[in-house]
Amino acid sequence: MARVYNFSAGPSMLPESVLKRAAEEMLDYEGSGQSVMEMSHRSKVYDDIIKRCEALLREVMGIPDNYKVLFLQGGASSQFAMVPLNLMTKSGKADFVITGQWATKAYQEAARYGEAHVVASSKDKTFSYIPALDPDTFTKDADYFHICMNNTIYGTVYHELPETGDVPLVADISSCVLSGPLDVSKFGLLYAGAQKNMAPAGMTVVIVREDLIGHAQAITPTMFNYQIHADNGSMYNTPPCYTIYIAKLVLEWLKNDIGGLENMQAINEKKAGMLYDFLDHSHLFHGTVVPKDRSLMNIPFVTGNEEVDAKFVKEATAAGFVNLKGHRSVGGMRASIYNAMPVEGVQKLVAFMKDFEEKNA
Ligand SMILES: *Cc1c(COP(=O)(O)O)cnc(C)c1O
Repeated sequence: MARVYNFSAGPSMLPESVLKRAAEEMLDYEGSGQSVMEMSHRSKVYDDIIKRCEALLREVMGIPDNYKVLFLQGGASSQFAMVPLNLMTKSGKADFVITGQWATKAYQEAARYGEAHVVASSKDKTFSYIPALDPDTFTKDADYFHICMNNTIYGTVYHELPETGDVPLVADISSCVLSGPLDVSKFGLLYAGAQKNMAPAGMTVVIVREDLIGHAQAITPTMFNYQIHADNGSMYNTPPCYTIYIAKLVLEWLKNDIGGLENMQAINEKKAGMLYDFLDHSHLFHGTVVPKDRSLMNIPFVTGNEEVDAKFVKEATAAGFVNLKGHRSVGGMRASIYNAMPVEGVQKLVAFMKDFEEKNA
């Protein structure tokens, strides 16, 4: 059976070696006589899985000891409420940069629980750039400053972090987590849905500085309180057991097969570089994002003609390059090339695009 090259923005590709290992361990995980899907989350064998997953994440990302790692459910979207409920508790204010739909949702949700300020937006040009930020315009006594680091739909990324001083920086890193090194100590809180670059859907990782835990608003539901999950080692209730297990396998792959996040970044730069280089020289296709803010993970592009776009997506799908249709708000195409997309997948896509260009330019 041939596997396709899947350019989906999420859920997305997983490393083939991870899928094979999961298949091998499906019926009998390490001599337990059960699959990981069936075992009690309170069992010794499962306890080892979740502890190894956390230890690997700490090691691979270099997470400092004064940060908690939480494995939660409810998607990154639940964090849009969970962050303000837990953090918007001193001045009750927070700052937001509007760089796309996810950033907008985070802002709108926070506005229900406190005073949410927009400090900058790139909506004027369909979020095709990261707006310049002037620290003089930031709210001095804000409880946190929120950014969406990699904008999955629009294909932009922050190459430089905002200078927020003592105000904790909070970032949605759903679509760039584990794509390269990140200095966790620069952030108060990081969160990421697993289904882009870490594991299948069903889990959200929260990495939060310890001093930000324990001040939740009184109305905070128990399940939305970071303290509850931190005190219970992400086992207050049943965690997303199988997703955590796959995340463990992905982290082992990152550590042992790839050799860590610096190597991963080099591979990601190579893959994105090939596609951007082609787009910059193409007579038919062009990228939609300003070059300085381009993402390594999500690369939107268009021909400028909707019929040609549709023809391209159709022919690409038939050739085994699937999920290339762009988000409805941008149109055209989008190639999401997360960690698990092999270099060969991008090489073959570029060759296919060249061929299509010759026939259709
Ligand atoms: C996909 C995505 C989300 C939404 O994640 P869910 O897990 O579906 O709630 C939020 N933010 C970013 C940046 C995303 O890419």
